[in-house]
Amino acid sequence: MNKLPYYKSRKIKKHNLHISEYGGFIFSKKNIPSKNEDFTEGHFFNDKLDIQAIASSIARRNNFNWKGPHTHIISLTRRCVNACSYCSTLCKSSGKDMSLHTAKKIIDFIMDIPQEEVFIEFTGGEPVLNFSVISKIIPYAKEKAKLNGKRIFFSVVTSLSYENSKIIDFFIKNKINICSSLDGPKDIHDANRLLISGKSGFDFTVKNIKKIQAAAKMGKTSSLNLISTVTSSSIGNEKRIVDIYLGLGIERVQLGMLEPLGKAKYKKELDISPKEYLNFYRKAIEYILEINVKRGIFLYEKGMYLILYDILNGFSNPKRSLDIYHRLAYSVDGGIYPSDESRIIGENGDETFLMGNVKKDNFRNILSSQIASFSMAYNLNCFLSPLCARCPYCLWCRAPVWHNYAYGNSLWGNMVSSPKCQMMKGIFDLAFEILADRKKSKIIRSWVENVPL
Ligand code: SF4
Ligand code: SF4
Repeated sequence: MNKLPYYKSRKIKKHNLHISEYGGFIFSKKNIPSKNEDFTEGHFFNDKLDIQAIASSIARRNNFNWKGPHTHIISLTRRCVNACSYCSTLCKSSGKDMSLHTAKKIIDFIMDIPQEEVFIEFTGGEPVLNFSVISKIIPYAKEKAKLNGKRIFFSVVTSLSYENSKIIDFFIKNKINICSSLDGPKDIHDANRLLISGKSGFDFTVKNIKKIQAAAKMGKTSSLNLISTVTSSSIGNEKRIVDIYLGLGIERVQLGMLEPLGKAKYKKELDISPKEYLNFYRKAIEYILEINVKRGIFLYEKGMYLILYDILNGFSNPKRSLDIYHRLAYSVDGGIYPSDESRIIGENGDETFLMGNVKKDNFRNILSSQIASFSMAYNLNCFLSPLCARCPYCLWCRAPVWHNYAYGNSLWGNMVSSPKCQMMKGIFDLAFEILADRKKSKIIRSWVENVPL
């Protein structure tokens, strides 16, 4: 009975990492796990399996109790105040806004989905340019949520590169979670994120961040979610980027990859190779860990946190962006897409991912579309992609369909040449390298324990 079930291994520096087919893992001195080492925790030997834990982990990882997506990303306008050189949405100073009629239809569509918690995220372009719809649709959505017995939360993705205290006060007063971009100190931020006028919006952004953080400290709203998009301007500036977040009282850093969408797809001078990104990422993570240890400050990186959450808990963090399972996105015209990135591809002119429209479809209809079936199936890439099936990280890793399409014009994707795959493999390697180090592991485990979902 003491047989060793199927498992996958990978060499991480001097360690042999073994991952059981149920997501348990161990580091071993030997290439092949033996019972003499402590494998009782990792579901390795048939006589040591905790069947109940395994069943619950499979059910949660594969969304057996799924009722519908909880996150809904609504594009309110094709206009923007900025002219970022990597803009994925190709937004300009003029363009279409979503009408209040369409926004209401989206809320009605969402309320029909049998999910008790609803997260609405307003995006664009710059969504505050369509503030009249934001201010009217929030009370409408709250009312509808109350009638349908749902809990509802709002967030807005805004550049903050404008001076309008009324709008910021509205967000704070209504406890709307604010997500924005801060690529780093002024020289790094302005390298790619100038206003349409060609001037810098950095000072407005920082002023607004300080105002929101001060309100968050008083418990009036939640702390900002900021992302730094990593481009060639970021390389060598890991510490300066982390330091500006720290100085603004932000405890969460997010180091985003430049994705092959919109302008970014063609601006080769901004792009960096997976190797350069991973080198940057490693240095930034090392520095963040050092701040935790030497200065006793709680600071974490969102991407690493999400990966660790899944590895250590045995199931997918609901904040991970699984197409359709967790999220849907809506274009200015009410088009329904499996992800925000596929919505961007659609609004940029390629409607391959369009599943329907809120003016004529309901949730059941869109689930029967071919693209919906494929997107949902592809979330289980362990079963679909040949290279993923053999990869030790496939229980937790997702190479999204939109990325396969945007990068390689294929829904299936070719993981052998996919930069996303290379980056994900490198990030997982780094996560396990840290987990193998007793001191560092303690810190990153504390991220998983202390960050509220
Ligand atoms: S990246 Fe965002 S803020 Fe920048 S131009 Fe595009 S929509 Fe505007
Ligand atoms: S995308 Fe790459 S790293 Fe991720 S599971 Fe597939 S093969 Fe592994």
